[in-house]
Amino acid sequence: MPELPEVQAHAERLTDQFAGSVLNAFTPFKFTVLKTAVPNPDQAYGLPLLGVGRRGKYLLLRFEPITFAVHLMQGGRLLVDTKQSAKPRNGQARFVFAEGPALLLTEAGTERRAGVWCVPSLTALSDPPLARLGPDALEVSPDQLAEAFATTNMRLHGYLRDQHLIAGLGRMLANEVCHRARLSPFAMTGKLGPVGANAVVAAIHEACDDGLAYERTRADMSSSADRPGRVHGRVGLPCPVCDDTIRSVSYSGYTVAYCPTCQTAGKVLADNTTSRFLK
Ligand SMILES: [Zn+2]
Repeated sequence: MPELPEVQAHAERLTDQFAGSVLNAFTPFKFTVLKTAVPNPDQAYGLPLLGVGRRGKYLLLRFEPITFAVHLMQGGRLLVDTKQSAKPRNGQARFVFAEGPALLLTEAGTERRAGVWCVPSLTALSDPPLARLGPDALEVSPDQLAEAFATTNMRLHGYLRDQHLIAGLGRMLANEVCHRARLSPFAMTGKLGPVGANAVVAAIHEACDDGLAYERTRADMSSSADRPGRVHGRVGLPCPVCDDTIRSVSYSGYTVAYCPTCQTAGKVLADNTTSRFLK
């Protein structure tokens, strides 16, 4: 799934290429892709795209007076569409501009969970779906996070992935942040205190900065296998910091990857595939 660096770099690329383009039409190919009934997308017709921003993992196509919030979920992409074919492969919706290429929302796979929300620009951040997001991962302060950790006691890895608690991180960055903070993915947030919160905020910035630096070199959005990481996708390989072997705990949809020496005082955590203890 695209996470903060991928969405941010994509927003920057789209702004470079499409800002100023006048919207002619928003065309959903599946009626379920548009998640809102009002305002009508046609309120943006004839108006220029002011820019593409980001909140959490949402892309925000800003017009005045309305904004399109696009969530790509797992397999969604917002692609530059020069062909504008009548039945585009995996096509979910298309933004057609007066001149130049269109933007095509595609979603591979069968889940079909990507979506577009049309919201008033003035209240976009305080209306659903953005209203439900926690503070943006790059904007949360150590004090803010320490306070939130103290009131919400849960496993750190789960906390980092919960968009209502902190927005923008996903499975890959949760792994990378825990490793850089030298904290167990299963550390309880209620016990981390200000020192732990400080380490997590620093780790978020390091991991996101590295991800952004990589993503900004690309002409399109990476898939998670392309993205460089220290522990994510490196199970069985040596830790780049200490040379210990990267271990994992597997869940149905994802894998928690960690370095025992760096993160769990050498302790190897029981893997769900061999033990049900941690479930
Ligand atoms: Zn290590």
